[in-house]
Amino acid sequence: MTHAQHVLLPSWLPPTGTLSTIAAGEHWDAAAIPQTAGLAVLAMLHAMPGTPTGPVIWSTGSSLRHPQLYILTTARSGIDLHGTPARLLSTGSYVVVPGNGVIEPHGVHWAVPPNPDRPDELTDPTVLVTLLRRIDSAAWITVSTPTGYQRQTLATQAQADGDACLHCHASDGPLSPGPTVTISLGNTVQAKASALCTRCLRAGSDR
Ligand SMILES: [Zn+2]
Repeated sequence: MTHAQHVLLPSWLPPTGTLSTIAAGEHWDAAAIPQTAGLAVLAMLHAMPGTPTGPVIWSTGSSLRHPQLYILTTARSGIDLHGTPARLLSTGSYVVVPGNGVIEPHGVHWAVPPNPDRPDELTDPTVLVTLLRRIDSAAWITVSTPTGYQRQTLATQAQADGDACLHCHASDGPLSPGPTVTISLGNTVQAKASALCTRCLRAGSDR
């Protein structure tokens, strides 16, 4: 039995093997972030279960430009990125966009290509602002679950201290004890109790 190929691609995606300059503010806005901070945001996005990551363009730079990530987010959301390392590119700005399937790490390529199952998916602007405002304090920690499974995740200081939900960064609601996390500082390893918000606790992962 063969499956019908229903590969849906966004209407704005340039053809395979090409690059196009596309106006922001129509299909999406782009947050342009210097590479180091952009990769940190991406790592934290991937660590948030159930939070969609929209397409991300990685421009590895040339002699004229520093490497940057462009995280595509909802068009004209009006988010305020002042005080963060990012610039918001919306109406009146243009972004060089790689074509379908361009994922080789040279020049302009997809760090996260559009998802053919969810071609309209974009990164939530509110989540993006939250992460951009907290990456300064982010550090890698090890999360140990009661079942003995361990994983590395990039967490903010508030998450490592149990003052914000380990999954979604919420800090304003009731928090319950989450999995133990360990943080390496030089030669010392500190074990701490993390916290989960009510919603993530109900969602049930990592318990
Ligand atoms: Zn949560």
